[in-house]
Amino acid sequence: MKKREECSMFIQELMQYQIQYKQNVFLKEYTTLHIGGRAHIMIFPKSVQEIEQCLKLCQKYDMIYVVLGKGSNILASDQGYHGVIINLTMFCEMKRLDGQRICVQSGATLKNVCDFCLQQELTGLEFACGIPGTIGGAVYMNAGAYGGEMQEVVEKVVYLDDKGVKTLSHSEMQFSYRHSYFSQQKGIILEVICCLKIGNKELMKKQMNDLMRRRHEKQPMSDYSAGSTFKRPNGHYASALIKQCGLQGFQIGGAQVSLKHAGFLINCGHATSQEFLQLIKYVQKTVYKQTGYQLECEIKMLE
Ligand SMILES: Cc1cc2nc3c(=O)[nH]c(=O)nc-3n(C[C@H](O)[C@H](O)[C@H](O)COP(=O)(O)OP(=O)(O)OC[C@H]3O[C@@H](n4cnc5c(N)ncnc54)[C@H](O)[C@@H]3O)c2cc1C
Repeated sequence: MKKREECSMFIQELMQYQIQYKQNVFLKEYTTLHIGGRAHIMIFPKSVQEIEQCLKLCQKYDMIYVVLGKGSNILASDQGYHGVIINLTMFCEMKRLDGQRICVQSGATLKNVCDFCLQQELTGLEFACGIPGTIGGAVYMNAGAYGGEMQEVVEKVVYLDDKGVKTLSHSEMQFSYRHSYFSQQKGIILEVICCLKIGNKELMKKQMNDLMRRRHEKQPMSDYSAGSTFKRPNGHYASALIKQCGLQGFQIGGAQVSLKHAGFLINCGHATSQEFLQLIKYVQKTVYKQTGYQLECEIKMLE
C-alpha cells in the first residue's frame, strides 16, 4: 500500500465525491470460498461517473486496483490485497430496451437478472439462474451451465479503461470456453446488453426450478467453494478424472476435494489460501501423472 499520507488523501477525495468505501475489510467476507486477508480500501461505486472517478483517483495516486463482483470465482490471498478493490455489487440496475433486449449494470447478480427476465417474459438466460455471480463476472468468464453460455445472449458490452468508455460488439468479445476479451485486456465491464427471446413465464419458471434442483442434488452448495476449480479439459471432465485418481475427499489442512462433487475444491471452514493452492497443485500433479491430462485452473487468484 502507498504511504499513509497518500492513502488519507485518496480517502479524502472519495469522501469529497461522496463515493462509498470501507477500510480494512477482510476479503474472506467478500468471496464465496471464504478465504482471504485484508484489503485496505474497498470502494462501492453506484454509477458510471463514480466508477470513472475511482479510476481517475487510482491513476492520480498511482494505486493498483482490481474489480470484484460477488467473489464467486476467486481465491484471495491470506496476505490480502495491497491496492484498491472496486466492488461493483451496488452498481446493479437493469432495464428493458426496445423489443427483446435488456441493459444490465455489471454488478447485478445473475439471480436478479433472471428474476427480471422472468417478470418480463424474456427467455435465454435461465441456464445462469444458479450461478452465484454478477453479470459482469459472468461476461468476463463467459460463464456457462447446462448447455448455455453467456456468449449466446450477450450482444454488446460497454466498458471502461484508462482511455475512457468504449463498446465491444459480440464479435469483438473474443468469447470461447471460459474466456473473453477481458481475459487478456484490462477493463471494467460497465453495462451488458443482452438479446433474448419472448418466453413463456410458466415454462421459464419450471426450467429454472429444475436447474436449481439439479444443482442442489449434485453440487456442494452449502460448502464454501468457488464452483468448479478447474476448466473442462478437451474430451473429458475434470471431476471424472479427479475421482478416477482416488482423490475425492483428499484434504490438505482445511482444503478438501468435495465428497459430493470431485470438481469442486472446498474450504472446510478454516483453510488458508496456501493450503488451497497446495491442494490445487497436488490434484493437478496427480491427475497429470495418472491420466496425462493437464488441469487448468478456472478460478482466479487475487493477490
Ligand atoms: C456454488 C458455485 C457454483 C458455480 N457454478 C458455476 C457454473 O455453473 N458455471 C460457471 O461458469 N461458473 C460457476 N461458478 C463460478 C462463478 O460463479 C462464475 O464464474 C461467475 O460468473 C463469477 O462472477 P462474480 O461476480 O462472482 O465474479 P468474481 O468472482 O468477483 O470475479 C471473477 C473475475 O471477473 C473479474 N470481474 C468481475 N466483475 C467484473 C467487471 N464488471 N469488469 C471486469 N472484470 C470483472 C474479476 O476481476 C475476476 O478476475 C460457480 C461458483 C460457485 C461458488
